[in-house]
Amino acid sequence: MDRRERRALELVLEAFGPDALVQRLDTRPMTPAERLRARLAAEACVEGCTACALHAARGGACERPLVPLWSPHRLPAEGRVAVLVDAPTIEEHRAGQLGRGPLWRVVRQALTDGGIAPERISYLTTVACTPLTQTRRDVARVPPAREHVDACTANVMRSLLAADVQYVLLLGGHATRVWRPDLRLADVAGKWFVWEGKWMVFPAEHPRVMFGGRAHDKEAAEWGESVRRFSRGVCDGVGLEALSTTCIVSGCREPFHAWDDDGVPWCATHLRPARLTRDSRKRKTLDTAQGTLL
Ligand code: SF4
Ligand SMILES: [Zn+2]
Repeated sequence: MDRRERRALELVLEAFGPDALVQRLDTRPMTPAERLRARLAAEACVEGCTACALHAARGGACERPLVPLWSPHRLPAEGRVAVLVDAPTIEEHRAGQLGRGPLWRVVRQALTDGGIAPERISYLTTVACTPLTQTRRDVARVPPAREHVDACTANVMRSLLAADVQYVLLLGGHATRVWRPDLRLADVAGKWFVWEGKWMVFPAEHPRVMFGGRAHDKEAAEWGESVRRFSRGVCDGVGLEALSTTCIVSGCREPFHAWDDDGVPWCATHLRPARLTRDSRKRKTLDTAQGTLL
């Protein structure tokens, strides 16, 4: 362990208490039977959900919500990674199943190239119903509205628990807002944080940059690099020691002061105790979605 790592560990212990690392390492994985039960329950919640207008949108109606793509069956080996993107693609919507079409192929390949076995990856969307709009000839997929993402957050959290993973890759701004609505993707992309004290989370750009042709070559290369960094972290089993110690406010040059509940680093000027904490966000999630959470 070098000096920088030792200092990071000291900071983690100061901020999260002496049990922080032990708790993370001791997290008991579910048994296969527990995992199966949790996944079936999560699917039932998604399939029976009528919590937002996407459920019965007219003119390009969503026929049914798409349940998460578990890794790859319901009774897999222990999961490792969950990937969260904004909404099902039009190909997935037409096939009636997540994981069909080019977007997931690109993401899965990038993770597999990074050393993560595909059977350990679950794939989820911030809204389970596809947001569509009627065009003159056909229907087209549009980005999800904020209120639909808020309504579906309980489904996402339930599915993440059922996925039984340690790491979550958030692809794009919508996915990042499910974790922290107060932070911009540009400020958090490519860094490690914590989610609900359970998962190490890593925001990155949406993979649409991989389909933009030569005009997006630079963004595509950056996206590939960021997924490689995520994969390296997963393979190395990174934990709280990977948290950043540079104030999250862009352009801030003040020294690091403390992390908040989600491992977001702040300087003394920008850290406000009243900032969103895990508890206040959990309450908000409960207010805006059906059912109970956690
Ligand atoms: S909350 Fe999610 S699953 Fe429920 S209707 Fe809205 S998008 Fe569909
Ligand atoms: Zn600052």
